[in-house]
Amino acid sequence: KWDEILQTVKTEHDVSDISFDTWIKPLEVFGVEGNTLYILVPSEQMTLSYISKKYYLPLKVAIAEIIGTEYEIQFILPEQTRNIRPSNNKGKKTPEPEASKRSNLNPNYTFDTFVVGSNNRFAQSASLAVAESPGEAYNPLYIYGGPGLGKTHLMHSIGHFILERNPEAKVLYVTSEEFTNEVIESIRSGNASAMNKFREKYRTIDVLMIDDVQFIIGKESTQEEFFHTFNALHSAGKQIILTSDKPPKDMETLEERIRSRFEWGLMADIGAPDYETRMAILRRKVESDDMSLSDDILNYIANNIKSNIRELEGALNKLLAYSNLEKTEITMEIAKKELQNIITPDKPREITPQLIIEVVSEHFQISLDQMISKNRSNEIARPRQIAMYLCKTMTDIPLDSIGSLLGGRDHSTIIHGIKKIADEYDSNEQTRNLIETIKKKINPN
Ligand code: ADP
Ligand code: MG
Repeated sequence: KWDEILQTVKTEHDVSDISFDTWIKPLEVFGVEGNTLYILVPSEQMTLSYISKKYYLPLKVAIAEIIGTEYEIQFILPEQTRNIRPSNNKGKKTPEPEASKRSNLNPNYTFDTFVVGSNNRFAQSASLAVAESPGEAYNPLYIYGGPGLGKTHLMHSIGHFILERNPEAKVLYVTSEEFTNEVIESIRSGNASAMNKFREKYRTIDVLMIDDVQFIIGKESTQEEFFHTFNALHSAGKQIILTSDKPPKDMETLEERIRSRFEWGLMADIGAPDYETRMAILRRKVESDDMSLSDDILNYIANNIKSNIRELEGALNKLLAYSNLEKTEITMEIAKKELQNIITPDKPREITPQLIIEVVSEHFQISLDQMISKNRSNEIARPRQIAMYLCKTMTDIPLDSIGSLLGGRDHSTIIHGIKKIADEYDSNEQTRNLIETIKKKINPN
């Protein structure tokens, strides 16, 4: 059928053989979700833009003609496929539209999916105000609070909102880590044009969002560059949005001139969610994931995970995975057993090698299977070595156990991996930042 559809596009629109082979023939159906048909463009963003400009309508019409159903079509790139689960009909994930892709926004983090409660009401309305009149209402907007409470989610929501109204707006989301690395890169390369390029990129933006700014303080050259970027954007009336784990006054190594700028606009904190909000968040997620869980179980989760929404979601994901794998309904007994590692009332969370490996693979977006596989390509081997290093420095498990946890690797491989990362940690600021960021994810306290 697919070939037939493509051929129809070719004949009805007089597409030349060469255009057909270049643009149309490589397209594949990735899947169907609801009435959206995802078409995989096995190439890059530019190709995707071109194809969607030129062939969106012809394809849509041909599909309707041949299949007899009208589908909304969405083009996606290979790297976006992991955000989509077309088999799941009610899956909430949608592929990133072009504008938010360019802006680095997570398509799921919108105001629509953000549950408002007493803990975040103020931050949410401040964010909405900024989204409605960027550069005018509050500048900068500074959102702060503990890990997993929705800072990043709110920030992205603002970005989506602005882009939806004005797809031409230049919205850019970066983590502090990315910002810092770009500064370091352009300084290190030592030529003026790299620095100019950096400045041009950051000073021509309409809305700049920097996440977790606490990580850029204490790094002199980065603070300096940040200061200039901030001033340039702010005086041009461009919106700046920042998040941090604490208010500016508590950031010890923050230069005074930057601190005062953080306080120019509006500061909004997000606290821990109360019981109602936790239940509302759980209910929303259960519904969007099409799960069925009894109120008792939701109650159990909400009563035991209180201060981190990421963990709240993690608990549901764990149960969802269990019920998918075991093909069974979740009972209270199963829930308690499955969640015992997450729910440890009032105890700080234990740092285990398993936890480290999970966090590292999540950070690099690779699977646990890849972590323990024989794959030695750099994208996999490096995260694996970082996991070895962190197991060694954050726990006291013996090297041989690290080896067996990571797919039965021998002693010398482990020593080599640990040493490689340790050396880099000492000599390379970028690696050091990376490791510190991951450590914070493993142990937020
Ligand atoms: P932070 O940046 O503060 O560490 P995130 O924004 O990454 O936290 O939120 C962690 C997870 O919890 C995300 O998956 C996010 O979608 C979810 N989340 C946080 N707050 C809410 C909320 N109010 N409603 C729905 N989901 C939320
Ligand atoms: Mg965050």
